[in-house]
Amino acid sequence: MQRVLGVIIVLGSWCLGYAQTYSLLLAQKVQQVTEVNQQLLDYENFGPKPTGSLELELVNDWLVSYYTDLGYTVSLDSFKVGSLLTSNIIIEKHGKDTTQWVVIGAHYDSVVDSYGANDNGTGVVATMQIARLIRDIPTQLSVRIINFGAEELGLLGSEHYVANTLSASDSIAVMFNLDQLGGTKSADNSKIVCERDEGNRIAQNDLPSARKTDTLAHIFTQYTHLKPVLGPAFSTDYMPFEERGYTITGLYQESDYNAFYHSSSDRLFNMDTEATKEVIKGTVAASIYFARPLVADTEQDLITLVPNPARNFVRVIVTDYTEVNYVITNALGQQVAKGLTTVGEPIPIHVCGDGLYTVSIYTTDDVFINASKLIIAR
Ligand SMILES: [Zn+2]
Repeated sequence: MQRVLGVIIVLGSWCLGYAQTYSLLLAQKVQQVTEVNQQLLDYENFGPKPTGSLELELVNDWLVSYYTDLGYTVSLDSFKVGSLLTSNIIIEKHGKDTTQWVVIGAHYDSVVDSYGANDNGTGVVATMQIARLIRDIPTQLSVRIINFGAEELGLLGSEHYVANTLSASDSIAVMFNLDQLGGTKSADNSKIVCERDEGNRIAQNDLPSARKTDTLAHIFTQYTHLKPVLGPAFSTDYMPFEERGYTITGLYQESDYNAFYHSSSDRLFNMDTEATKEVIKGTVAASIYFARPLVADTEQDLITLVPNPARNFVRVIVTDYTEVNYVITNALGQQVAKGLTTVGEPIPIHVCGDGLYTVSIYTTDDVFINASKLIIAR
């Protein structure tokens, strides 16, 4: 959609009234954001993907298999635009509370002729990263990720979703929209616009939106190098949610992308890939934060892996527990081993090749305790 920038409020030194403590879990998850450029390129290489095109169907298949491989059950929320059939792609991760949802949206269609690396490959790749990194974190709230169709034809996918598919019994804590997160190559991409609801259809949801957006901005100061600025929400998939009174927030990279906007030049080689990755890191931190991870940072136990570097066995040392669950993931975030272990007993790691791994430790009830890096070298 037309994303002409409105009034932007630059936030100077962030006000100090915030009590959001720095979370080791979020910091670790942000570090596990990988393969952003490759995924953006994969999305771009499908070519322009307007509604009704074969290319869009191929992107749909690509996303469905990506989410399925991560262990999600994918549902397609199909609808018609004239004679064209298209769909929203939906995955869910249940939290302790299965009635309260964090909805994370990013449209996956592009306009005719646009490769859409920025609009909206960046939002799509952000949802792929969020899906992978939030999957194993126990959270209080449930998370629903939706890649909307037909956004570029007038928010048709998100409108269809709120009008026909969203259950009235679902409470939405926040609708967090990701559209055009990529910075222009050689431009100043040091800022990121955190979008809040300023009026629009319903007045009562403005204040909760302002609060969520302040939180979002603060998360960017904590876990990224970017400087958050506040701007108004407009012209993308959170609007149908706003019109029904839901609380919305979103992100938008403000750097001047007009030369490439909705054109065949919206491609990775015109983007500032480092800044884009930084925005995506922030989306991961914010999504996990909004879902309220069930881990108290102040009570986070330190774990030690011995030996480290390891060869064929590794032991987990953690105080106050006799048995723990472990999950070993490789540098790409793929799970390579998991199981239950007695603290101090050797865990076989023969199946893992040499490299850098993350060992995440959970209680036997699967509440996250902590994670640590493990080097395997033989
Ligand atoms: Zn867009």
